[in-house]
Amino acid sequence: MINRKAVENSIVLLKFCPTCGTLLGPFEITDILMKGFVCENNHRWNVLLEQVLYKDHTGEWQALEAYPPDPNTKLTPKEIACIWLLRSELRRHLNHQTAHWLRQLLEILDDGCDGLQEQACRDDLFCVLCGKSIIQRSSDDGYVRIYCCTNRHRLFSRGSLWFKLDDGSNMEILSDSLSRFVINNLNMLCEKPMDLVPLQLREVIPQLTEEAKSKGINPIKKKGRI
Ligand SMILES: [Zn+2]
Ligand SMILES: [Zn+2]
Repeated sequence: MINRKAVENSIVLLKFCPTCGTLLGPFEITDILMKGFVCENNHRWNVLLEQVLYKDHTGEWQALEAYPPDPNTKLTPKEIACIWLLRSELRRHLNHQTAHWLRQLLEILDDGCDGLQEQACRDDLFCVLCGKSIIQRSSDDGYVRIYCCTNRHRLFSRGSLWFKLDDGSNMEILSDSLSRFVINNLNMLCEKPMDLVPLQLREVIPQLTEEAKSKGINPIKKKGRI
């Protein structure tokens, strides 16, 4: 589990990029439930500040879709996306993965290019606490990888990376994805019948991905890695 207070108190522990081992610094992001970091090689990471567990939000979404309260207010697709990421009453209805990719899409549109390098090759990582190489250890859980550095720090991986804080809760970090994966993943999420994405965003996201394509940033052609 994630304990926001414990994460905020321990955020200073997070010093090194898992991909390349260089120092991490803060990176301002449009998401009130994540904190952004960037290393010297432009690898970008996000720390989760709160747990958001998926449940069926359909009823709540219907109430929230009416946002903004004044129907005469015309908002651009980008403004609507920002509202969902920055207003707590909306953001808490988005799962982290959707929010993570949506936020990256906004950055891609602002940057106008794919500034990210391939990162987070899972077999060759550095300890986020001390910067030393970490080696994979055997794990009883087939889904979770356990890594250990020479300073005996332990990291876990299952899509995201995490380590344990003193109170037993987790500090969990997600890597940013390459632009083409972001676009692909968001398009796939919007097409899913599972309703993981609120209706308002299902309308807005295709408009934003089209805008990205018009800037020359294209989704991958074949099935992509997340
Ligand atoms: Zn790095
Ligand atoms: Zn370490």
